[in-house]
Amino acid sequence: MSQPVHGVSLASIYEARRRIAGQIVRSPLIRSQILSDRFAADIFLKLETCQPTGAFKLRGATNMIAALIERDGRDTLARGVTTASTGNHGRAVAYAASRLGVPATICLSSLVPANKVAAIEALGATVRRVGYSQDDAFKEVDRLVTEEGMTLIPPFDDPWIAAGQGTIGLELLEDQPDLDHVIVGLSGGGLLGGIGAAVKSVRPEINLVGVSLSQGAAMWESLCAGCPVEVAEVESLGDSLGGGIGLDNRCTFALVREVMDTHYQVSEVAIANAMVDILETEKMLVEGAAAVGLAAIEEHDLAIQGRKIALVLSGNGIGLETFDRARRLAGR
Ligand SMILES: *Cc1c(COP(=O)(O)O)cnc(C)c1O
Repeated sequence: MSQPVHGVSLASIYEARRRIAGQIVRSPLIRSQILSDRFAADIFLKLETCQPTGAFKLRGATNMIAALIERDGRDTLARGVTTASTGNHGRAVAYAASRLGVPATICLSSLVPANKVAAIEALGATVRRVGYSQDDAFKEVDRLVTEEGMTLIPPFDDPWIAAGQGTIGLELLEDQPDLDHVIVGLSGGGLLGGIGAAVKSVRPEINLVGVSLSQGAAMWESLCAGCPVEVAEVESLGDSLGGGIGLDNRCTFALVREVMDTHYQVSEVAIANAMVDILETEKMLVEGAAAVGLAAIEEHDLAIQGRKIALVLSGNGIGLETFDRARRLAGR
């Protein structure tokens, strides 16, 4: 069988599933009665908020570290793994490494607040504080990899990472085999790409919908340009969807281009409204990035009547101050 250029296949997603079994939660897919009634459709919510670190990124991080142990042996990983992220990816790497018995060093700028540092340390990682920006933190990651022999665990652009996130696609098909639309938040594309590789291999007729921010959406701009481009970062309620895709992107740009059918952007007000809707209807507090699917349905008036839809509620990395901001923006 020929290997696709991006390196993600149904087989690699099944391998990921075997590796991460018992390490992550096989998350529930629940039918929302209120949202289904509101849109005259069957709306299902995939609750990645149930992962022990509060987001799906644990799947990819666990798969990559377990795959490296399998391929190279534990001794090769004795120096440990590293990355730079204050958010869901940093928490995922810290937790996954600790579960798999591998040391983890998470590089953070000195400006990251103490509570976020403590949260990552509590998951069993060593935090290294350097410089005054995310760029400074990334430079330290580079140094740890080249000079100290650590292994980088990237947030999205890797076939093992995308395959790990793709296990969500397998679970969706098992729980609701006849879905019409799967709607996924899109940033670097590990999540959408992995899910797409799974569901499209089995049911190519599924409409795979990506949702990006309306500003600072690097994947959107890159798809328009036909190659990865850089975009200035903009503050957003969906902060987990910010950041670039890497000018040297080797996996997820090609993968997203192959599997995604439809792509929308959503405004900050639409994200805010969707966050409040999810709290009101489901009694769940989710971060902005997890609410973009519902935001797209509402803002773009998607024709979903009579259809079966899955929305991936990707994470709950949000504090009450941010939710207050969303509530004020939504005017509710
Ligand atoms: C990282 C993240 C995303 C986007 O995933 P990509 O693989 O970068 O596209 C969406 N939602 C949440 C909560 C995330 O942490």
